[in-house]
This record gives sequence, C-alpha cells and structure tokens, in this order.
Amino acid sequence: MSLPICQNYIGGQWMPASSSATTPVFNPSTGEIIATCPVGTCVDAEAAIAAAAAAFPAWRDTPPVDRARVFFRYRHLIEQNFERITALICREHGKTAIEAKGDLHRGLENVEYACGIPTLLMGDTLENIARGVDCETMNQPLGVCVGITPFNFPAMVPLWMFPLGIACGNTFVFKPSEKVPLTAIALVELLIEAGLPKGVMNLVHGGREVVDTLLTHPTVKAISFVGSTPVAKHIHETGTRHGKRVQANGGAKNYIVIMPDADMGKTVENLATAAFGCAGERCMAGSTAITVGAAADKLLPDLITAAKAIKVGPTDRAAQPHMGAVITAAHRDRIASLVDSGESEGAKILADGRTLKVSEAPAGFYFGPTIVDDVRDHMALAREEVFGPVLNVIRMDDLDAAIETTNRSAFGNGAAIFTNSGQAAREFKHRVKAGMIGINVGVPATMAMFPFTGWDDSFFGDLHIQGKEAVQFYTRQKVVSTRWFSEGVGDVWKK
Ligand code: NAD
Repeated sequence: MSLPICQNYIGGQWMPASSSATTPVFNPSTGEIIATCPVGTCVDAEAAIAAAAAAFPAWRDTPPVDRARVFFRYRHLIEQNFERITALICREHGKTAIEAKGDLHRGLENVEYACGIPTLLMGDTLENIARGVDCETMNQPLGVCVGITPFNFPAMVPLWMFPLGIACGNTFVFKPSEKVPLTAIALVELLIEAGLPKGVMNLVHGGREVVDTLLTHPTVKAISFVGSTPVAKHIHETGTRHGKRVQANGGAKNYIVIMPDADMGKTVENLATAAFGCAGERCMAGSTAITVGAAADKLLPDLITAAKAIKVGPTDRAAQPHMGAVITAAHRDRIASLVDSGESEGAKILADGRTLKVSEAPAGFYFGPTIVDDVRDHMALAREEVFGPVLNVIRMDDLDAAIETTNRSAFGNGAAIFTNSGQAAREFKHRVKAGMIGINVGVPATMAMFPFTGWDDSFFGDLHIQGKEAVQFYTRQKVVSTRWFSEGVGDVWKK
C-alpha cells in the first residue's frame, strides 16, 4: 500500500509540493512509517507568500468582529473534532491520550484568546494633548507573517501563532515540523471549514530551503519560531538581518530546587510529572533536580520508586500507558549516549531507562524513566538539553549554591522551587535567572493570556509568544494627532 504524501495548502487549494523528495513520518509507538512529508523548495514557499500577500488587503479591512467570528467557529470545530485530533497526536508523536488532550487544550485556549481580538486591538485616546488637539493610537496588522513549529507540541505551538496572528488582520504562512505534519493539516482543514477566506492561511511543508526562503523574502514581515536553540539563533539572525520582526523560542534546561522543608509526597508527584511527562520532550520539562541539604535523602527513595512504576508503551490504542515513546530512533539513541557520557564521567544511575523493552511494540522508540545522581556542572549531560525522560540530580548544601548553579545555565526558560518557606520562595523568585518561575509548581508553563517568557538561550527577540506581547508582535502602532480649524463650516453651530 502506498503511503499518504502530505500536501501543501496555498491560496485556498490543496496541492502537491514542487519536488518529489520526502521525509518519513513515523508512528513512534510502533516504529512504522505512516506518511511522508515533502522536503519542499523555494518554489512552494514563494507561492505561499504570494498567496498570503494577495489576500492581505481584504483581510486587513475585514472588521475585527468578523475576524473574531471565524475563531469562534474554529473553537467550536476543534471541540467537535477533539478526539480525532488527539488520536492523530498520539499516532504521529507518541504522546499518551491524556498528554495529547493537554496539548490541544492549551492550544484551544489560544484560539479563545484570539476570539477577544476586538478588545485586544483597541488603542488609547487622549483629548487635548494641546488646545484643540486630540491624540489616538491604532494597532494595525503587519502583512504576511510566518510560523515555524517544532515536533513536540503538534497542536499547541501552531495554535500559539496563527490564531492570534490572523485575528490581528495578518495573513499567514505556516511551516510545521516535518515529523508531525498530520496534526498541522487537520488544524488547517478546520480553519478552512470555519470560513477563513482563501489565501489568508497557507501551509507549506519542508526543511531548510523552505525556511530560508521564508526568512529572507522581502514580502514577509514577521516570523514566529519555536524549536531548538541553534535553529532559533539562525532564524533570529537571518530574519532580523532581512528586516523582519522575529520571536524565536529555543531549547531549555530547567532546574527544580527541592528544599528540605518541602512537602515530599507532593514534590515526588510533581517532579516525576515534570521530568517524565511527555517523555521529557517539553521545553518546560524539569530536567534537573537540585536537592538542598537533607532533601536528597527524603526525596530520592520515593522518586526512584515512582520512576520505576511508570508504565511505558504504545499510545496508539485504547489501553494507555503512563508514558509513550520518544519521537525517533535517532533521538532515543542520542538520549542514551548523553546518559552514557554522564555515567562514564562519574554520575550514578539510580533508575535506568536505557534497557527498557516493550514487548507489545518491540520496534517502537522507547526510553524508560531515568534518574542520574551526582551530576556535575561540567558534564555534557548537565549542560545540554537532553529532551528525554532523564532527570539529573545535583546535591547542594544551601539555597545560595542552588540558585548559583541554576543561574550558570546558558538557558533561561523555567525554574521551580519546592518549599514551605515563604522566605526561600521569595529569594528564589527574586534572584533566579529564568523567565517562568514555579513555586511548588513543577511545570510553570504560562497560559494563553500570559506571555511565554523565555530568557537567554531559550529566547531570541523582544516580544514573546502569547498574551498582550503577542498582540504587539503581530501589529504596529500608529499615533494620530488631530486638530480641526474653526474657519468656514466649522462655525455653523454657533449661529
Ligand atoms: P528543531 O529546531 O529541530 O525544528 C524546529 C523547526 O525548525 C522545524 O519546523 C524544522 O523543520 C525547522 N528546522 C530544523 N532545522 C532547521 C535548519 N537547519 N534550518 C531551518 N529550519 C530548520 O526542533 P524540534 O526538534 O522539532 O523541537 C524540539 C526543540 O524545540 C527543543 O529544543 C525544545 O526545547 C524546543 N521547544 C522550545 C519551546 C519554547 O517555547 N522555548 C517550546 C517547544 C519546543
């Protein structure tokens, strides 16, 4: 049986890509290839940009209430198709059904936020900035915007971008991850069904050639990117050099500090979810636990038990495990090699996921929950983003040392503390160098109404994704000063 080949959606038409080269789309649960994704060329990217540019004038002038109505219908359609889309996420990504629902729910909240666009776009006014002169601000769309997304949240990350970008009055070119194109296609199909005019949303598959065309094309005004740090840097540097606005979220290494006074039962529960949820493939995964003083002895025995109790298996069927596979065999092998390197440099493996066998799906890309103790700052395992179900443990004597270690990371996405001390929590939130802080919250990822505030090597740009910052990103302000002279008809009402 021949495999389905993903199609582009350009100017209101589904169509094949310009070249026949493709990459495989796997079902990570079984290791099977389930579809192929076009590699794409500049011809596809240019056609998508041209379609978006042609649709811009009419969409820009569509009243914001009418634009919002498209997203009210879109919201309804996503709810109606919730099970179907989450099943696709499980199939092409390997998330469990619960995780896939979380992925789509977080995305749906961004659609709901975009439904408020008439209010979000309102400007300010001030009468009499000088005698007889009034002043107002207007927020106007930019033109053609681009969204380039990673594999790990097939629904949420695209929904971070295009609903708000389009609701602001822009037209859009969406380049999804070639590893999870099926969810992207389903999301675009529903947007068409919601009544979006032709050309406002365009979907183009591909890799570097497509991305570089989008980054350098003079018609493109703004680029939203989420992915790994090296690619985020490339996107930001190339896009800004070509005069575009860029917001580029990168990778992460998030620290969770556990104080000896923490509620250990709740901490174990939260830490296991933060480290092993979504098989560790989250930019907000808690990948390093820093235990302070006696916290290690209180925490680790139960944490090891919790890790070993996690059932790993296929997620593409009714009976669900606690954790699914990682995205590809190559990614699984990279995770294993980072754990090997830590071990050879002296770290101790307390729970070992490298040897995991899943008998009902032997060819799936599985890696079990892993805990590595005595990790040192200089190790590659400590510095690099592993992006798998691996929790490093670093032991420290006091909070100061824990904060200093956290702040040495090149990344700055999230950090959390588990404690019952208000003073320790205050010290931590004040001094820690990361954009999203959790206090007794293991994954402090922000929701649609708040910006997703990565710092340092976790974000390149000025205005973040989500919330009011994203509305600013997708619009530019105009300030109008108005004075009316009283000559001629201006005096009529006095008579
Ligand atoms: P990736 O960087 O490999 O790919 C992201 C996107 O960039 C994909 O669409 C891909 O096709 C494209 N791409 C890849 N290499 C490219 C290149 N050389 N030139 C141009 N385009 C290229 O990321 P991934 O593996 O799909 O996703 C995982 C990464 O995303 C992790 O590092 C994770 O931390 C990060 N992430 C960050 C956030 C955040 O908000 N900070 C959220 C989710 C994921």
